[in-house]
Amino acid sequence: FGSIEPIRKINDEMMRYASKKEQEIDELKRIENYRREFLADISHELKTPIFAAQGFVHTLLDGAADDPEVRDQFLKKAAKSLDGLEALVQDLITLSQMETGYITMKIKPLEISELINDIFEQLEKKAQKRNTTLKLDSKPDKKYWVLGDVNRIGQVLINLIENAIKYGNDNGKVIVGLESSKDFVSITVRDNGPGIAEEHQKRIFERFYRIDKSRSKDKGGTGLGLAIVKQIIDAHGSKITVSSKIGRGTTFEFRLEKTVAPLPTTNS
Ligand code: ADP
Repeated sequence: FGSIEPIRKINDEMMRYASKKEQEIDELKRIENYRREFLADISHELKTPIFAAQGFVHTLLDGAADDPEVRDQFLKKAAKSLDGLEALVQDLITLSQMETGYITMKIKPLEISELINDIFEQLEKKAQKRNTTLKLDSKPDKKYWVLGDVNRIGQVLINLIENAIKYGNDNGKVIVGLESSKDFVSITVRDNGPGIAEEHQKRIFERFYRIDKSRSKDKGGTGLGLAIVKQIIDAHGSKITVSSKIGRGTTFEFRLEKTVAPLPTTNS
């Protein structure tokens, strides 16, 4: 019957094909699992504020509204649950739009120290409530031109600085640092709060991952803030990292490509 070699070759080829198919099936299973888990997570996360608001409204209808003080208190609680629900739905829309590529980054030159100062102004009230100081650590009068989508990078900074205020200590300090190297500007958001244990550091960028569930919800978190941050930074071709020491504080860092200031446009 001649050589056995051709049969061996066909056999090898078939084995390779089978192993490739197996890998593809594993990948499909992984995606399917991820989808199923995400759907279960969303349903659970949506139920919580809906049930809470429902509870308050029904109690009001059952007579609690007769007492003006109780009525106001319950209405405020229902409103808080509904605000949380709205924030959650908004974050879910952003995240799914980013994942499906529906939102594209509008990458343009932007001056990052001005953006940070604008955001400090926006968050001033929240910081004051916790007596937290917001500080920009950069070379005085230096401009830091980088390439990025101004709205999305703004959102990243808001999420990180808000978290630093929320999870930091009262009377705390939040320092945003800018450091320029040859090709990049490194942006750090540092707090002197309780810190994040190592086992959690890897997972905080997963959606709905919270270290202290009740505490995070209490602080108005949706559990999606850092997942959105990661998506945006990934879409800029960069990486977000966290370093932290328990009792000392936490630092988030990402870098953006440097660019030159655009020429002023003339109207002649
Ligand atoms: P959340 O909406 O719960 O704030 P995030 O995705 O923004 O969700 O953050 C995930 C979790 O990471 C938070 O619930 C919190 O436990 C933890 N975390 C985020 N930032 C900090 C920080 N600066 N210091 C300590 N813990 C933090």
